[in-house]
Amino acid sequence: MGRRFAACWRFWLTCYSFAIMPAKKKLKKQKPKKASSKKPAPKKDSASLKTDPKRVAAILEKLDQAYPNAICELNHKNAFQLLIATILSAQCTDVRVNQVTATLFKKYPTPQAFARANPSELEQDIRPTGFFRNKTKSVIGASKAILERFGGNVPRTMDEMLTIPGAARKTSNVVLGTAYGIASGVVVDTHVQRLSNRLELTRNEDPKKIEQDLMKILPQDRWISFSNQLMWHGRRVCHARNPKCLDCNMELLCNSEDKTI
Ligand code: SF4
Repeated sequence: MGRRFAACWRFWLTCYSFAIMPAKKKLKKQKPKKASSKKPAPKKDSASLKTDPKRVAAILEKLDQAYPNAICELNHKNAFQLLIATILSAQCTDVRVNQVTATLFKKYPTPQAFARANPSELEQDIRPTGFFRNKTKSVIGASKAILERFGGNVPRTMDEMLTIPGAARKTSNVVLGTAYGIASGVVVDTHVQRLSNRLELTRNEDPKKIEQDLMKILPQDRWISFSNQLMWHGRRVCHARNPKCLDCNMELLCNSEDKTI
């Protein structure tokens, strides 16, 4: 009986050790997880901007050297024509707008002529600039507003400009700055948007926020010239794709990851 009990006890112990062995082995095999080798994404906060006054002044100096006579490249003879040309320039090149306005301003020489225009005919006249249906509404609406509420003259304040159909902040800044020399803000078009980011003057993509950033760091007497110079640089050197960094006099000031050298 005693022997039989001892044999049973040994058998039970053997079975138990086999049962728990795999679990022990599994525990041994588990290795601590390695830390991720991925680098953390660069911070995109205002603390990483390079906007100290000396650097901003250096950028302004380089722009002055490269583009001392940068002006708005939309052809116009008065504030009203500039307003119409700027409305047409949305999502369109200045070269194309100038081709269209060369004949458009002869056919419609005054705000009255645009206000009386046949919409279908005007749509075809401005069709090459794109978005011609909406632009036709804006051009006729702006002309009527200027005749009915501003005595036929383009107003001189941002608040008034913003009541005109088709005139948001960019258009209003172009007209006030170029036609009247009034620095009401900074024009932020696609070039200013791209270059301000490449030059680390902003981390924003929204034009309204970029404008606010630029107004804080630029002297007000440079608001008009800065945007014209940046547009010239964007069209001639700092293209969206393959910027010509070898030809750029701001290369030493630029840390953009889009740089080609
Ligand atoms: S160095 Fe290149 S990316 Fe930087 S501003 Fe000049 S052209 Fe643009």
